[in-house]
Amino acid sequence: MDYQAVLDYIREAVEPKFGKGKVADYIPALAGVDARKFGMAVHTVDGKSYKTGDADEPFSIQSISKLFVLQLVMSHFGDMVWTRVGKEPSGDRFNSMIKLEMEHGVPRNPFINPGALATLDLLMSLKGDTKARIRNYLSFLAMNDTVDADMVVANSELEHASLNRAMAHLMRGYGNVHMDVEELLATYCYQCAMAMSCADLALAGLPLAAGGYSPVHETSVISKSQAKRINAVMLTCGMYDSVGSFAYRVGLPAKSGVGGGILAVVPGKMSVCVWAPELDAFGNSYVGTAALEMFTSLTHTSIF
Ligand code: GLU
Repeated sequence: MDYQAVLDYIREAVEPKFGKGKVADYIPALAGVDARKFGMAVHTVDGKSYKTGDADEPFSIQSISKLFVLQLVMSHFGDMVWTRVGKEPSGDRFNSMIKLEMEHGVPRNPFINPGALATLDLLMSLKGDTKARIRNYLSFLAMNDTVDADMVVANSELEHASLNRAMAHLMRGYGNVHMDVEELLATYCYQCAMAMSCADLALAGLPLAAGGYSPVHETSVISKSQAKRINAVMLTCGMYDSVGSFAYRVGLPAKSGVGGGILAVVPGKMSVCVWAPELDAFGNSYVGTAALEMFTSLTHTSIF
């Protein structure tokens, strides 16, 4: 399969899809991103990489960070994380609180905002600097020392974090958040503001395609069983309340972020990252979803 030709074809084929979504503006610092950006990168488990368009340009990874914080938490605490969050799709928006009170402060899964806050709260119970731990893990996985948070984006989100703040307080009231809420929010906004490129993220996602093993580092970062379980939760919860139609159209475990990125995993074969900032009504990249749909159709890499 000529993956380079496929990526270059997709970059041209998605052209008519631009202008139909909307760049996230509820975090003011994200509103200024050029809506016409498009990048896509692939890393295979046997060491090949391909990219097209703006694949080397860092963007705000936002909720894709939740995937890596979950890995850190699982590698330190194992299955204990499932006492703090569930593993069911929520059927609600990523920042909804509707079920949170009914379910006594236990979020449906680690990828909706309350679930990510509860997961991060657990990570913060470890000694040491949590922000540095997250940054170091991402820069290690991406083999890129320049990976860092964009503090303009982090501070912009922190100033507009009323919903996330409310969720954190609600969970603290139910005993499912233990840290100081302001410290938790600042760390959460920091993890979401990490700036990485499609090429960085495709490399960082590779262990999920290789049973927890990083072929480039020649070491396991999580266990095989943990990689399997994280992929399962991505498949059922990674694309918010359009997870069903994403599975129908693309057929891969994936995690999206409101910065317009989507990281998808082809188990046993490769990881794929796409970036296009315009979002659909569910907060997922509109053009990015279309690009991944083309990718799995052309390369026959859907898991179904
Ligand atoms: N930082 C964003 C928020 O909390 C993440 C949402 C997302 O990327 O889906 O609203």
